[in-house]
Amino acid sequence: MLIVMQSGCSEDNISNVIKFIKQKGFDAHVSKGEEHTVIGAVGSKIIDKRDIELLNGVKEVIRISSPYKLVSRVFKPDDTIVEVNGVKFGGGNIGMIAGPCSVESFEQVDACAQKLASYGVKILRGGAFKPRTSPYSFQGLGEEGLKILRKAADKYNMAVTSEVMEINQIPLFLKYVDIIQVGARNMQNFNLLKNLGEIRKPILLKRGLSATIEELLMSAEYIMSGGNRQVILCERGIRTFEHMTRNTLDLSAIPVVQKISHLPIIVDPSHSTGLRDKVAPMSKAAVAAGADGLIIEVHNSPETALCDGAQSLYPEQFNQLFTELKALANVINKHF
Ligand code: PEP
Ligand code: MN
Repeated sequence: MLIVMQSGCSEDNISNVIKFIKQKGFDAHVSKGEEHTVIGAVGSKIIDKRDIELLNGVKEVIRISSPYKLVSRVFKPDDTIVEVNGVKFGGGNIGMIAGPCSVESFEQVDACAQKLASYGVKILRGGAFKPRTSPYSFQGLGEEGLKILRKAADKYNMAVTSEVMEINQIPLFLKYVDIIQVGARNMQNFNLLKNLGEIRKPILLKRGLSATIEELLMSAEYIMSGGNRQVILCERGIRTFEHMTRNTLDLSAIPVVQKISHLPIIVDPSHSTGLRDKVAPMSKAAVAAGADGLIIEVHNSPETALCDGAQSLYPEQFNQLFTELKALANVINKHF
């Protein structure tokens, strides 16, 4: 249920409403928009909405029948902008994240970070805990990997994102990482999502391999219902019958999500295509379709990469692409 307050209502009016709905057994989530304050009452109790309509300062009470509430634009009409290290995702801003698939060594991450920073990238990616299909594949360096990522990023004034796989890793991520990534395979790890709702760091939530857009939004709802409002969604391709690409990039998820939700949605052209030569065209398509950002795999030596070399761009290729993307963004009145 959403309670839209009258514009110019007092803080007392707002706190009275919050007190009232809490007494009735609901959780209250407040969103202050430019015009109106909206209070989301989340809970399964039954309440006569007229009791709320009668409270001072209440404009209207809307029952939401859609399953998502806090992620919905009805709750928060304005775009959520997530800002990290001066990079904004959402609200007409396109954020760029780039870096290797996995952290392999300090020298490797340092070489990538040095190049990327010189191209103007301010958020570095790199997996330390890797969700691999085979238990015999490189599993990542673990905490050592996070330390390496942090050290290299600090050297070039970059922020970092890396993937968390388990609840007990969260303290490590709070220490070393600026944006905590939830990978496709953990999109519906509900206990992990609940725990990430309790913290106050941005979460990059990737769409599951076979997840619907509604399921992606419901997973974001788990994080937001814990009170963490900084969620960036990521379309990373879904599994279809097509095998020419690693996954099928569902670009229509961008406008679909943007209509329903205020959360930013970015695109991962690397994991969605799995092929280096497909990364540039799909990145451009993503920007043209309205993506709020991109996360792109770049490796200083893709031939020797321990993971996903075939889909990793050479640094110079990335630089060329980033330049073209900036020009493209300009055309649609957006900017990196
Ligand atoms: C990644 O970004 O490193 C990754 C494993 O991606 P996904 O979870 O989308 O497969
Ligand atoms: Mn990868």
